[in-house]
Amino acid sequence: MAERLNNELFARARGIIPGGVNSPVRAFRAVHAEPIAAVRGEGPWLYDADGRRYLDHVMGWGAVMLGHAHPAVTHAVATAAARGAVFGLSTPDEVDLADIIRTAMPSVERLRLVNSGTEAAMTAVRLARAFTGRRKVLRFDGCYHGHADTLLAGAGVPPVLAGDTLTACYNDLPSVTSQCELWASDLACVIVEPVAGNMGVVPPVEGFLAGLRSLCTRAGALLIFDEVITGFRVAWGGAQALYGVRPDLTVLGKIIGGGLPVGAFGGRADVMALLAPGGPVYQAGTFAGNPVVAAAGIATLHTLRAANPYAALDRAAAHVARSIAGAARDAGVPVQVNRVGGMLTPFFTSSPVRDMAGARDVDATAYAAFFRAALDLGVLLPPSPLEATFVSACHLEDALWRKSAALLSEGFTGVPYCV
Ligand code: PMP
Repeated sequence: MAERLNNELFARARGIIPGGVNSPVRAFRAVHAEPIAAVRGEGPWLYDADGRRYLDHVMGWGAVMLGHAHPAVTHAVATAAARGAVFGLSTPDEVDLADIIRTAMPSVERLRLVNSGTEAAMTAVRLARAFTGRRKVLRFDGCYHGHADTLLAGAGVPPVLAGDTLTACYNDLPSVTSQCELWASDLACVIVEPVAGNMGVVPPVEGFLAGLRSLCTRAGALLIFDEVITGFRVAWGGAQALYGVRPDLTVLGKIIGGGLPVGAFGGRADVMALLAPGGPVYQAGTFAGNPVVAAAGIATLHTLRAANPYAALDRAAAHVARSIAGAARDAGVPVQVNRVGGMLTPFFTSSPVRDMAGARDVDATAYAAFFRAALDLGVLLPPSPLEATFVSACHLEDALWRKSAALLSEGFTGVPYCV
């Protein structure tokens, strides 16, 4: 019986859906494991098709900050769905959600809701190009902004479509300065994850974000913070509040939809004024500002604002990070744990990781072994070495994060040494 349903399901899926999955990382290839089919979640727990229960640290890739099936969110979704799933017209809830976001992030003077982080980042870049009348977009090696052509160099995108995309090294201001000097009058924007989450968690070094701010101002380019992961996670006001740097535009997703598909982009009113119908930059969506999504988002943000879990999250995640680092040291496995608030990554390497070159250095085989050991112990980590492990508001009971820390420490038994 064990593993029957999971395996049957994936055998069937592979005959219908490429690779058996609708998003590549779900195939678990990087950790050399059979993928898991999730059938139910409750708070920090996730249940697979064979009835096994896992303490979940993937948390919908950071989207369900309150945990799975939070009663307030579930109730809001059911109530909104019963009133109608989509109208293709404006609704009160979308305005309320936009207002909560605007109040939390003062740099976001105006915003629009869309359906995914990909869409939000794509449109923010389109807007920056229109506002500045320039073409070039500077991004950072190891950051991810969704899969729009401009922002996804390589990976099946014809070079001509990413020909105006420049790449710099995260945490390395001189690499940004040299691109700014090279493309001085043609740089439309710099887009960055203010805390990188997609090369594993890499915090900005002191002065990096402020440096980007002044380089952009000097170059006449817009600074875009992609806070799809960090928004409402590292602080109520996101990384821009935590580090005190004001971007021109902000890209959001994940938490603001309470687990339903969402994205948002917003920022300076003069830039946002270029959007149709007031301006010439087109963007639209059948489901943009969807009432069920907006209801889930409002319920999530109201709950988060009332609970204000950020200090507790920081403490709990710090304990988990310390436990992992300690257990790795005791086992003789070189591991560097990077963390900001409730997002962390154990990098299986002996050198500190502050950019993608450092992240590429990890021993992926050792992480895969750690992942499988944790899974056997009932803890679900991201099925890839360069992703964020999330400690969320649903992990905050002492017993839970202590259990998580203990199990993850135990996970080092059997992890091979890395070189
Ligand atoms: N930006 C960042 C920082 C992300 O982490 C992601 C997705 N993980 C995206 C953009 C794309 O968002 P989505 O998957 O909703 O398209």
